[in-house]
Amino acid sequence: MVNKLYRPYKPNLDFSGLDHIVIGSGMGGLTVATWLAKVGKRVAIFERHYVPGGFTHSFKRKDGFQWDVGVHYVGNMAKDSSLKGFFDFLTDGKLEWESMGEVYDVANIEGKEYLFKAGKENFKKQFITYFPKEEKAIDRYLSLIEQTNKRGSAFFFEKIFEPWFSKSVGWIFKKRYSKFSQKTTWEVLNEITNNQQLIMVLCAQCGNYGLSPKKSSFAAHAMVIGHFLEGGYYPIGGADQICEKTLEVFTAHGGKVFINADVTKIVTKNNCVQGIQIGEKFIPCKSVISNVGVNNTFNFLLSEADKNFCDFNLKNVQPASAHICLYLGLNKSSEALNLPKHNLWYYKHDGIDSIFEEATLENAPENFAYISFPSAKDPNWETKNPGTATIQAISVGNMEWFDGYKDSKWMKRGDEYLQIKKNFEKEMLKVLYRFFPQIEGTVVASEVSTPLSTENFTNYKSGEIYGLAHTPERFTLPFLRPKTKIKGLFLAGQDITLVGVAGAMLSGLLCATAILKFRSWKIFKEVKAQKNQ
Ligand SMILES: Cc1cc2nc3c(=O)[nH]c(=O)nc-3n(C[C@H](O)[C@H](O)[C@H](O)COP(=O)(O)OP(=O)(O)OC[C@H]3O[C@@H](n4cnc5c(N)ncnc54)[C@H](O)[C@@H]3O)c2cc1C
Repeated sequence: MVNKLYRPYKPNLDFSGLDHIVIGSGMGGLTVATWLAKVGKRVAIFERHYVPGGFTHSFKRKDGFQWDVGVHYVGNMAKDSSLKGFFDFLTDGKLEWESMGEVYDVANIEGKEYLFKAGKENFKKQFITYFPKEEKAIDRYLSLIEQTNKRGSAFFFEKIFEPWFSKSVGWIFKKRYSKFSQKTTWEVLNEITNNQQLIMVLCAQCGNYGLSPKKSSFAAHAMVIGHFLEGGYYPIGGADQICEKTLEVFTAHGGKVFINADVTKIVTKNNCVQGIQIGEKFIPCKSVISNVGVNNTFNFLLSEADKNFCDFNLKNVQPASAHICLYLGLNKSSEALNLPKHNLWYYKHDGIDSIFEEATLENAPENFAYISFPSAKDPNWETKNPGTATIQAISVGNMEWFDGYKDSKWMKRGDEYLQIKKNFEKEMLKVLYRFFPQIEGTVVASEVSTPLSTENFTNYKSGEIYGLAHTPERFTLPFLRPKTKIKGLFLAGQDITLVGVAGAMLSGLLCATAILKFRSWKIFKEVKAQKNQ
């Protein structure tokens, strides 16, 4: 990423006159910051990592390979989609997307392959070829996805209502959505078919929301599956282009970005925000937007009194699942290796719930792997990195497996830890070579990340990759809204809405709307006008 878009934090810099401080530079933070900067507010983003972007950042190693950390595909990016309209608004149309083609996902369950094809009708036709007796159930499934998501849009829109309006009208939206959000994915699917194999195939992409069918809310399933129904898209140039192109616009409107800026406190007085603190340094501002996850915000940045004042109580909602990822660099091009654009969801058997529940460090890759081919998706890769390719292969992770290394430092965790990573790599490569034997002998770079890496770079304490787990209970938490009870304190990020770049972006949009109120409609008009050009 271009360095001039951000600078390292130093306590002696001039931070005076800020309207808004955004903590954390993930997609939600980038969105709200750019939105506010575009209407003339003085905004600064403070990010603890040494590069901005949160899960949209990429990392590079000496041998020249670059890998994304948290974006494999984004849905709903066709030319005329509203989501693309919002991205165009944020990036002044400079971020381009490449379609992954007709097939965006392939599930391999117990050795049988199932293709996920772009477009509702194609999806349906394809599934009927696998389950000819289940046409009615497949139809019902698709209409349930649509119905749930319609109610979901109203549910998320309600999050910007003022408390009095929420009490008098908003409850209707919540109640209507609860019909779906309060049931697990399995419960809803089991009502439309008793074909367990069909249910499992329909849930094969559940890694996108991080919970198995018997634990996840159907609302999360419907939103994420619906998001990809028209196909998958990849940001041309790599995931970090999302952040880079947004920051170009943000900084052009006077926004400032500080890296290595680990915010330690949100300072309040009489239930009003005063500013933030980084170590001993106090930085004043009119309002603070926290985009670091609700766990981090309430448990680490606010006082106990503030936390209670905001009625923060997670009930039984746990952090989402963690992961282990193998990053590979290959010395042949994606074309020469015939690597696909689609992602592969591999399950050893159709007991998806038990695969996730019973995962161990030793058996994880053998039972489940999600494999993605960024260089094959990116039309610019070959020009910039001729004769090379990249692959990312993910399996389930658990912070408890790494408890013994928690107090160690990044890159200095010792030989035993390195050996664990080596073992994971060996097991994952076995899976990869089984599906793609042509890559054997071409791997020239590899790296493994664990939940400790996720914690180190993003501050999610259990190494969770999707914030709060997407259980039915998550959808009942009253404080998952942009506006908090503390005057001037707002929340953005995946916890406020849903997992995903689109979910986080939507949270930023809601947050900006909650701050700007009616003034934001002017911007919506601008987005619409830009879209119609
Ligand atoms: C392995 C993986 C694969 C994924 N694949 C996809 C995909 O294919 N498609 C998709 O749409 N989504 C995907 N996601 C999810 C998506 O990336 C996230 O949901 C989304 O990017 C989260 O954005 P966010 O705004 O909530 O912020 P985050 O990206 O979570 O960023 C939070 C930021 O806050 C910073 N921070 C934390 N504490 C502090 C502090 N005290 N001071 C300053 N800064 C702080 C962190 O360093 C971080 O940069 C994936 C995620 C992962 C991990």
